[in-house]
Amino acid sequence: MSKVIYFRDQLKRPLRDLRISVTDRCNFRCTYCMPREIFGPDHVFLPRSSLLTFDEIFRFAKVAVSSGIEKIRLTGGEPLLRKDIEHLIAKLATLRTPAGNKIDLTLTTNGTLLGKKAAALKEAGLTRVTVSLDALNQDIFAQMSDSRVSVETVLDSINQAGEAGLKPVKVNMVVRKGINDHQILPMARHFRGSGHILRFIEYMDVGDTNGWNMQEVVTGKEIIDIISTEFPLKSREAEHHGQVAKSWEYKDGAGEIGVITSVSQPFCGDCTRLRLSPEGKMFLCLFASKGFDIRAMLRSGASDQEIQSRLASVWGARTDQYSEQRGANMPTDGPKIEMSYIGG
Ligand code: SF4
Repeated sequence: MSKVIYFRDQLKRPLRDLRISVTDRCNFRCTYCMPREIFGPDHVFLPRSSLLTFDEIFRFAKVAVSSGIEKIRLTGGEPLLRKDIEHLIAKLATLRTPAGNKIDLTLTTNGTLLGKKAAALKEAGLTRVTVSLDALNQDIFAQMSDSRVSVETVLDSINQAGEAGLKPVKVNMVVRKGINDHQILPMARHFRGSGHILRFIEYMDVGDTNGWNMQEVVTGKEIIDIISTEFPLKSREAEHHGQVAKSWEYKDGAGEIGVITSVSQPFCGDCTRLRLSPEGKMFLCLFASKGFDIRAMLRSGASDQEIQSRLASVWGARTDQYSEQRGANMPTDGPKIEMSYIGG
């Protein structure tokens, strides 16, 4: 069992988390991520031939895990739309860190396909799951997701995932002022005591298509204040370095919630996340404009060592801290990547 030598970037942040987007397709059109007016019937998605195969994803992940990665999150678009994703999960679940530990293998989904797949995903080796749900009220849910899926479908999926052992199930709610902010308390009431962890996400200026403006942001502090009017809360210590959500727990023991405050209290200083796009580009920030291709190396017979040194040089040169610099008009390399392409 060898000691883990973490790759560190220019801000001394270790490489620990890998987010793998396995598709840019989704069956929702959430207005803050994939607005239909941009991602309409004529939108051209990535051709299948350009997507990394499961073997290529596994190979890159193996090299990344030997370079310090301890947690892998599968994202999209909607990752459960990728055919036979259980096969990829089964491969990734065989990975061990240099210290011999299992990796924390998780997935973010909109929940529409999760119900019937939960047991198979668990069987394949998935550790836990995060489900997006922006409202309990059907009309507001439809407005946020721009879909005709019923809230019941997603709620059933959350429970089935819990029953299948994909625990704790985390439920992510993106809050937009004037659209679903009055669903904060109904959501808190619903998930209190359920064992599922509800997390509130500040509306972010991801990509360049969601028409973001600061007036529509409900800050983490405002969300906590709203919930505290009915349910007293106390803050909790972060469980690990680089934890994204700030944790709180109900004083009456009814469980915990989280707030993700990328806008009001950025956390770039602890950001240990690398992202891999569906067609094999490495991105160093959710708000990046430029990616670093690794597919050509994977398809041209490069050795694991060569891929590892490419990873080391890309991460080593990283200085990204978009959220800390938001509004500072920092120079960019062009339009920001879309969240529906790179995942949250
Ligand atoms: S803005 Fe970029 S650097 Fe900052 S926490 Fe998010 S992904 Fe990390």
